[in-house]
Parts: sequence; structure tokens; C-alpha cells
Amino acid sequence: MKFDTDRDLIVYFGGQFIPLHEARIGILTHALHYGTGVFEGIRAHWDEKQEELFVLRPREHYERWKRNCGILRIDVPKSPEELVAITIELMQLNSFRTNVYVRPLAYKSAERIGVSTDDQDAFAVIAMPFGEYLDSKNGLHAGVSSWRRIEDNAIPARAKICGAYVNSALASDEAHQCGFDEAIFLNENGHVAEGATCNIFMVRNGQLITPAVTENALEGITRSTVIELAQRELGLTVVERAIDRSELYVCDELLFTGTAVGIAPIVRVDHRPVKDGEIGWITQRIQQLYFDATRGHLPAYSHWLTPVYPSSISHPQKLVSLVG
Ligand code: PMP
Repeated sequence: MKFDTDRDLIVYFGGQFIPLHEARIGILTHALHYGTGVFEGIRAHWDEKQEELFVLRPREHYERWKRNCGILRIDVPKSPEELVAITIELMQLNSFRTNVYVRPLAYKSAERIGVSTDDQDAFAVIAMPFGEYLDSKNGLHAGVSSWRRIEDNAIPARAKICGAYVNSALASDEAHQCGFDEAIFLNENGHVAEGATCNIFMVRNGQLITPAVTENALEGITRSTVIELAQRELGLTVVERAIDRSELYVCDELLFTGTAVGIAPIVRVDHRPVKDGEIGWITQRIQQLYFDATRGHLPAYSHWLTPVYPSSISHPQKLVSLVG
């Protein structure tokens, strides 16, 4: 995640909007030592024509975040609506006119030694300009990781728990060392779980198939967005079921989905082409629908978007795309 360090970002930290360089935590902070934090990832897409920045499903992200904070008994003392309002204000203060990634982080903040937790919690919201996470224009080469996905009874993969990302970091690092763009995790049953930082879908016999979230996968919001678009706009049957490793080698299409990666086609897996090694038509249709829905070009999905600079007077055309 890179941004222009010459320009000091404004972040939300300690209940206030302050410059990034002033947002510091102590070396003994519990979450730093023990991974006791829960984070989120939210995207906002800039649409040049409408001169608008559209935050994608922020309410759903904050609802998921608060629910998952509950797993670690971290309290975020704000409602999802208040958190959306903080996020919009943060983007306005930073005057972003580009694609943005928002990183809310809640954590155990006590400064002491000792793994057991207490009720000292803190949270921050950081937003920064953010382009492509993976360059997937020509499709990705994914590799099945030798690391297994964490089990729900060890660290729940359905939540974005900071410490759980050691699992993703190991797999991602291994994938890059081996020349792959991204790792695919199997779970302890040997079934496909997800990517290191994204959910996975395959197309077989005209059906869109993805592991059930009980396979130790994150309950992805892009995953649910793709399921809805595929069912409603393409009339596809979407099946949530266990996927064998070898199905990755015989399927027609494969794609990753996630807030950071967007819709990323996989054209090779473990050095084997996915079908003919080209980006498949269903993936292309999903990519286009996702692009249009997230930039306010599809009125039917305007309820997913929260505009950062809503001004119907200076941007009359915005109303056209926002009225569903
Ligand atoms: N799986 C993992 C492990 C992730 O880190 C992410 C990114 N948040 C996803 C899946 C995709 O989830 P979402 O679509 O909600 O970003």
C-alpha cells in the first residue's frame, strides 16, 4: 500500500481528525504484540465524468467490522452510520479526487505485557489514494499454497483479525517467491478456501461456484456483490459448495474477488492454463458490471454507493445516476 508521503494525510485517530504523522501508538500496545485487532478495507472509486467519489457499501463494511470486533470483545463506540459519516468527512478533509482505500482498525490498546485482554480498546480510520492492488489486466498466475488456511477453532478466518494475517503473509510471500501473483489457500480438509487476500470463484458447466464461508473463508463483501450481480444481471446459478484442488485445473474460469483486488481474473494456476489461458467471458461480464455498479453507472445499484461530494447544483448529472 503506497501513497505520496510528501503529502500528509489526515486520519481519524483518538476521536479526532489529525495529521498521519501525529497518529502514533506506544511500543507496548497489546495489539502490536499479540495481533489483537480487527481491521476493515473499504473502497471508494472516483468517477471523472461525474466528478464524484463513490464509497462502496460502507455501511455493510462497518456492520461486518463491528460484528467481528465482537469476536475479540473489542468495542467500537460508534454506530455504523456514525462511522460512515466519519469516513465521508475524512475523505472531504483530504480532498481526494482519485480511487481511495479506507482502512478502519480497532484494537486492544492497553500498554503492558500479558496476553489476556481487558476492556481498553481504541480505533482509527485511515484513508489513502490507492490504485490497483494486483495488476490483473492480463490475468493472474495463482499458486496453491503449501500453507493451510487457519481453522475457525484456531483463529476465525471469517473476520479480518490482525493476527490471522500472519497466515496470509506467509502464503503471499511464498507465492511471490515462487513467481505467482497470488496464493490460493486450501483448508485442513484439502478443499479450496480462498486467496491470501481475496475470495475465489470458479466457473464450471455454466455455474458460478464459490466455497461456502464455512470452508474457512472471509465473509467477503465483494463476494456477495458478485453473487448478486451474477444472479440478477447475468441470470447465473451461483453455488456455494466445497471445491476440490483438482477442480481448479479443470474448470472453465477462475477469478478472485476482494475490496483491494476488485475482480481479478486468474488465467494460470499452478503452471496450468485455466481452460485456454484467456480471460473468460463470464469473468469479463462480471468485471464490467462491477466497474459500472461501483462508479454510479447502474442506477439499480446506487444504494451501494455513498457519494463523498454530493452537490446536485454543481453536478446535476449526478442525480441522474443516483436516482435508482
Ligand atoms: N479473503 C481475505 C483473506 C481478505 O483479506 C479479503 C479482503 N478483505 C477478502 C477475502 C475479500 O473480502 P472483501 O470482499 O470483503 O474485501
